[in-house]
Amino acid sequence: MAFQLPDLPYAYDALEPTIDEQTMRIHHTKHHQAYTDKLNAALDGTEWADQPIETTLADLDALPEDIRTVVRNNGGGFLNHGIFWTTMRPGGGEPTGALGEAITEHFGSFEAFKKEFEAKAAGQFGSGWAWLELRADGTLQVHGHANQDNPVMHGAHPVLGLDVWEHAYYLSYQNRRPDYAAAWWAVVNWDEADRRYRSYLAQESR
Ligand code: MN
Repeated sequence: MAFQLPDLPYAYDALEPTIDEQTMRIHHTKHHQAYTDKLNAALDGTEWADQPIETTLADLDALPEDIRTVVRNNGGGFLNHGIFWTTMRPGGGEPTGALGEAITEHFGSFEAFKKEFEAKAAGQFGSGWAWLELRADGTLQVHGHANQDNPVMHGAHPVLGLDVWEHAYYLSYQNRRPDYAAAWWAVVNWDEADRRYRSYLAQESR
């Protein structure tokens, strides 16, 4: 069983004008496909090919040293983009439900959370992601992680992430990463983020 590039849950032009069609098409069919292919090449025939990638990435030290970095980078890329596509949709909105309440509890307000998240996205040096993550102590926190690192590699659950690699925004925003981060709220799928948050809470309470 190989890892499969997931279909986008909307058309390539569905997130315009926030994210343009060409960026979405290249990002999905070239970048995400390449992470998927390289992950499969690295894990083919190993015991890690048949378990969820989250499980593998949460315990990278268990991997043989000669494939550890390639799995970190491409397994991270495979997982991160799968989360990214599903936590976006046309129309956006504001956080509701358990996640909405938790954001207010941990950040003071949605506005304060957005400010912290945008600052993390803008300030991430080089390529990486800004993440809203559920930590092991039950707190919601914003962190930046370099390259394709996912919060699971750092002992946390990924609730929502923004890709700040230049390939994610350069065609429309060029060097204006802060504008991209500020515009992104218009396409966040808060229902899916809330579903992710609640599923992690349920896991933790088992
Ligand atoms: Mn990307």
